[in-house]
Amino acid sequence: MSLAGIRARLEAAETAAGRPPGKVRLIAVSKLQPPERVTAVLEAGHRIFGENRVQEAAGKWPGWMARHEGVELHLLGPLQTNKARQAMELFDVIHSVDRPKLAATLARLADETGACPDLFVQVNTGEEPQKAGVLPAEADGFVAECRGLGLPVAGLMCIPPAEEEPALHFALLAKIAERNGLEGLSMGMSGDFETAVALGATHVRVGSAIFGDRPGPEG
Ligand SMILES: *Cc1c(COP(=O)(O)O)cnc(C)c1O
Repeated sequence: MSLAGIRARLEAAETAAGRPPGKVRLIAVSKLQPPERVTAVLEAGHRIFGENRVQEAAGKWPGWMARHEGVELHLLGPLQTNKARQAMELFDVIHSVDRPKLAATLARLADETGACPDLFVQVNTGEEPQKAGVLPAEADGFVAECRGLGLPVAGLMCIPPAEEEPALHFALLAKIAERNGLEGLSMGMSGDFETAVALGATHVRVGSAIFGDRPGPEG
């Protein structure tokens, strides 16, 4: 567990970017990690965690949340509409809003329950066919559609193509956010979070660099 080391690198990246240190939210991505690694990070006092799948998170987080106060849980992976209600109950923030049908479902449930997590619109900056997210050219229209539904859009999220220079994708995401008046930028993972901070990330999603390699297949 190298939480302290990652925190130090994050603050150094903020300082290097001329930003006040300690402001970027460090989301510890606990998907598929052995439970003892996650509880060690909880016991070290960290409270912001990210998961990829509703089902996996629902199986482990209610118990941990009962024992540790103040946990803030972020959904990072694709969300099916039939899991939207459960996701809205469990998560404080959803980073993967990526299509009109999901936005409409979230808006309907928000009206019904009177509550909604903060939302990030996922943008497929690399225009990869297998990847979730709206295309860059569709982002302005989709953000406007979400706002029209009354949804609390906090920012944008992206996952750059593995083989490309992430800085280009982070800069594109920042540009789309700026022209839409959005402050939140969810970008940067274990291998590139310092680059993301230099380009304005407000939320970084760091898994293996905190917990160690994930056993088994990628979530
Ligand atoms: C798994 C995952 C991460 C964390 O990846 P690491 O390389 O382990 O830091 C971040 N964001 C998303 C969307 C993920 O699925």
